[in-house]
Amino acid sequence: MAQPAAPATLPARREYGGQEVVTLHTRGDIAAAAHHAIELLGGMRAILAGRTIAVLKPNFVAGRPARTGATTNLDLLAAVAAEVHAAGAQPYLCESSGTEFDDASTYTILGIADFCREHDIGMVGRVDSWTALRPPGARRLKHFSKPAILDDACLINLPVLKTHVVSGMSVAMKNLMGLLPREDRRTMHTLGIQQCIVDMNLGLRPDLNIVDGSVGQDGDGPLYGRQANLGVLVAGRDSLAVDLVCCRLVNVDPHTIGHLRLGEQQMGRRRPHLLGDEIAPLSRFELPQVKPLYRFAFWLMYPLDYPFARLTGTHLCTALYSTGLVGTRPQISAEACTHCGICVEACPLPNVINLDTLQVNPRTCQRCLLCYEACPEGAISVKGMSGAAGPVAAHGTHGK
Ligand code: SF4
Ligand code: SF4
Repeated sequence: MAQPAAPATLPARREYGGQEVVTLHTRGDIAAAAHHAIELLGGMRAILAGRTIAVLKPNFVAGRPARTGATTNLDLLAAVAAEVHAAGAQPYLCESSGTEFDDASTYTILGIADFCREHDIGMVGRVDSWTALRPPGARRLKHFSKPAILDDACLINLPVLKTHVVSGMSVAMKNLMGLLPREDRRTMHTLGIQQCIVDMNLGLRPDLNIVDGSVGQDGDGPLYGRQANLGVLVAGRDSLAVDLVCCRLVNVDPHTIGHLRLGEQQMGRRRPHLLGDEIAPLSRFELPQVKPLYRFAFWLMYPLDYPFARLTGTHLCTALYSTGLVGTRPQISAEACTHCGICVEACPLPNVINLDTLQVNPRTCQRCLLCYEACPEGAISVKGMSGAAGPVAAHGTHGK
């Protein structure tokens, strides 16, 4: 019997709802899982749909390595970049760190320049050209800007599966905040982060989301929560559907997460169609326990930043963290320190630790805690607003 002719090209996945979600065990090889997920979703050529630029948006909220569950695994980024190259397009990296961190220092700690050179990934760097957006249906964030490079590019979102002290969870929908200019992020915090995340996602729709669930964070994520070795990868074209599946995997009721509840109400119900490995729900994620006073003080920083920045030319957040009195930060004990210098060698940045005075410069320190991990004498402690306890269980800072 004659076989029907195969279609010449794959249909765009959005034609059938865009709610296919792939779940895979990473089995210690997140790159292999990423290649498999892309294949299951129709292949990179179909995702690119003729575009010659793909913007990769990882989560580099701060200079904390992927093994802590704070940032995207570079092996995932490399695998996606290789897929983009193989499909005839050029990958570009576009990401900014959290507002209390310095972008250049964050990239230095994570080794991003060398990584991008090695994998032929362009770096967008400091964005100086923006496109204004007014998403129809947006309720609070009625206008914002996106990097102009996205106008003709395919957007590939590469978040981490983790909790967030402000938004509850930070996965695909939340991760896009790092594409917006600092002023728009300030507006989002001021006007209410949960609704603003939905509004942002009405205007910014990634062509593909691949969630790094190899190592995530629960508890007081997104930076100093508890490391969660999940060993999974979740991918799909629809950010909300991907987030709902991620929540189910870690036993979080998505309706307790404001932007997911509002997203389903305002962007439409999602019924993800699962592909890949059948994965039973993993360990139950503990959501952040943030005291109301801390939450209020944190929120207040954003409206106060408008007059502060106008008067001083510096952002309030930057000024506060530069005092060395707030946030998660390392401190050296003079009694325990032997002046061995190992912490200075472990610090990826110059002029941060002064071995003569045993002071850590709060203006240059990016709170990566590599010094804390390296000290053989246990002479470095981690201070924080809510009482930091360790390299992956400290509190007192926030994300984007
Ligand atoms: S690594 Fe520890 S003991 Fe050595 S100089 Fe630094 S703080 Fe002191
Ligand atoms: S002093 Fe410690 S926490 Fe600060 S940047 Fe250096 S290594 Fe990171």
